[in-house]
Amino acid sequence: MYKTSITTFSSILSNPIEYLKGVGPQRGDMLRKELAIFTFNDLLNHFPYRHIDKTQVLKIKDITPQTEFVQIAGRLSETSLMGEKKGKRLVASLEDETGDVELVWFQGINWVQKILKEGERYLVYGRVSFFMGRAQITHPEIELIDANEAKGKNFLEPVYPTTEKLKARGLSGRAIGKLSIKLFELLSEKDIPEILPASIIEKYRLLNRYLSYRQIHFPENNELYLQAVRRLKFEELFLSQLRLGMLRSERHHFSRGVIFEKVGNTFNEFYNHHLPFQLTNAQKRVLKEIRKDTGSGRQMNRLLQGDVGSGKTIVALLAMLLAIDNGYQCCMMAPTEILAQQHYQSISELIKGLPVNVKLLTGSSKSAERKKTLMQLAEGEINILIGTHALIEEEVKFKNLGLAIIDEQHRFGVEQRSRLWKKNEVLPHVLVMTATPIPRTLAMTAYGDLDYSVMDEMPPGRKPVKTVHRFDRNRPQVMDFIKEEIAKGRQAYIIFPLIEESEKLNYENLMKGYEEVKAFFPEPKYWISMVHGKQTQQVKDENMRRFVTGDTQIMVSTTVIEVGVNVPNASVMVIESAEKFGLSQLHQLRGRVGRGSEQSFCILLTGSKLTNDARERLKIMTATNNGFEIAEKDLELRGPGEIEGTKQSGVLNFKLASVVADKPILEVARNEVERLLEEDQEISSAENLLLKSYLLSQKGKTVWSKIS
Ligand code: ADP
Ligand code: MG
Repeated sequence: MYKTSITTFSSILSNPIEYLKGVGPQRGDMLRKELAIFTFNDLLNHFPYRHIDKTQVLKIKDITPQTEFVQIAGRLSETSLMGEKKGKRLVASLEDETGDVELVWFQGINWVQKILKEGERYLVYGRVSFFMGRAQITHPEIELIDANEAKGKNFLEPVYPTTEKLKARGLSGRAIGKLSIKLFELLSEKDIPEILPASIIEKYRLLNRYLSYRQIHFPENNELYLQAVRRLKFEELFLSQLRLGMLRSERHHFSRGVIFEKVGNTFNEFYNHHLPFQLTNAQKRVLKEIRKDTGSGRQMNRLLQGDVGSGKTIVALLAMLLAIDNGYQCCMMAPTEILAQQHYQSISELIKGLPVNVKLLTGSSKSAERKKTLMQLAEGEINILIGTHALIEEEVKFKNLGLAIIDEQHRFGVEQRSRLWKKNEVLPHVLVMTATPIPRTLAMTAYGDLDYSVMDEMPPGRKPVKTVHRFDRNRPQVMDFIKEEIAKGRQAYIIFPLIEESEKLNYENLMKGYEEVKAFFPEPKYWISMVHGKQTQQVKDENMRRFVTGDTQIMVSTTVIEVGVNVPNASVMVIESAEKFGLSQLHQLRGRVGRGSEQSFCILLTGSKLTNDARERLKIMTATNNGFEIAEKDLELRGPGEIEGTKQSGVLNFKLASVVADKPILEVARNEVERLLEEDQEISSAENLLLKSYLLSQKGKTVWSKIS
């Protein structure tokens, strides 16, 4: 059985595409360049995006203004050129025995004119519109009806994704279908053998693999088509989960990680005498998980999901103290300078009086200072190094790195994460912390090789932030409200959006905003800090410092302030042009307030014209404070490609499946993979042999292999 499978997987499907009848070297070249179709197998996996129902040919008289797409058959009566310049168009009339419609082309007129033959019969497909009471189809798909062929045309004809260049070479979406037909003439069931375990096929009543491929290209009916799609989606998600699961399982069983054997003095001293509050149960649970991982002898690779303000920093610190007590160094990497600095300050503050040496290393560290830090690091004198991307540079060498913490993971790529691993002979433990929650399905697919912890509990005594939506015209009232809060001793943020396209616009926008704010809050009664991307580090720092120490009452800023900054006394967050922000960003910004025990407020200011999506976002923000809920909504609204951190990971490029629409399939696939790996870790049981040989045959072909 094993042998046959190996031969089948290297079968005819690996033939270069140009060897397929009807392709040849030139078209082969085009298919490679335009659609990345290199082999027969690639063509097999180039799925149609829709099918034309050849069984449904409408009579022209039955077209109504409600008709959306039609297929009609008739004789082409006359073609003529009309209009001039931009209005120039080719118009033809198609008539059957019940009436006629107009066909219109604005583009490719010369070419279309050349191939259309008046008096011939055509099959026409397209979107109907009505113009001056007459039905017309603009840029229809049109095909000469071959009298000999006509009878056999009773099926759902596939239309494939293609490109303009390919169309010009005669490889339209329908023409590619002719190649698929040629391909399937060569294939039999043994070329597309089943790879999923029989028990799973049975349990979920999945269509067999060969049939699924046939039916997705050339469905006999809609029901079979849907079954084929479902099976192939399942396969796709199952295989991706399996690859991640294997990485996870390999690490659990075979990786060698540094061992934190004991809980030592520094940890205990801190825990018993310096901890400024009681840990929440969620924090304790996660610490236990970390302790278990790091004591196991295997490398820890854990994703810690916690909502904004759930208290991830202290967990990170305790984990680092554990490492230090066991003789190891730690590092903590943050996505921005400001955040790295804040971590540095708050951690230095927390460990005051303990024998722990903390240093900061960022892109703007002075070179003499930097040299010294690097030397001390290599000699093992530094216990905790906090910094930005600068930490993963080649020249940063630890004596014995035992734990790497990555805060606000979604700005780091998978590749950067793996560069940290290489900083020690034995793999250091890695703890990845998200800034705001990411939806479970995304976490499963983008970080599925990591173990997973959730902190779903807020520290006690927090009052949920009250969130309201106000229009620009209400700004004076909003400013008055800020004044009241300041009078109570509180502080406020006013945030302006970053406009992606133009730094200059950002700057002008912010300056204008700043002047307006200043008019409401004149010195010397009020003092304002301002932070933006164009300032030097020194100026930024000074402005931050003044706000943190309460020297200024208002912080005007772009989103550079977004992540992680902690000023518990701030109780108002005003977000200007809130309609321009995404949900997770709004939630992250809102998380800057509500960090103390006072009631806090988030005010979303917008213009009066709002898109439906923007309205929906505002509605969600005012309805809930729960970051996990918001993350799910965000995914629904924007789709996976737009969620930060998943774009660059490249792992969401599924051919058929969607992590949004196919969530239920994904969950099932994940469960089945977990069960499989538990029962048959090596994937070597008889039932899983085909699966194993398939995986081996695919090794190195997928983006997944780049992760490990
Ligand atoms: P995030 O998870 O967003 O990184 P932080 O670690 O910055 O959150 O914590 C937010 C605030 O909550 C900080 O001021 C921190 O001191 C405080 N905090 C953390 N854990 C607790 C706790 N168990 N009890 C009370 N306050 C806590
Ligand atoms: Mg944080």
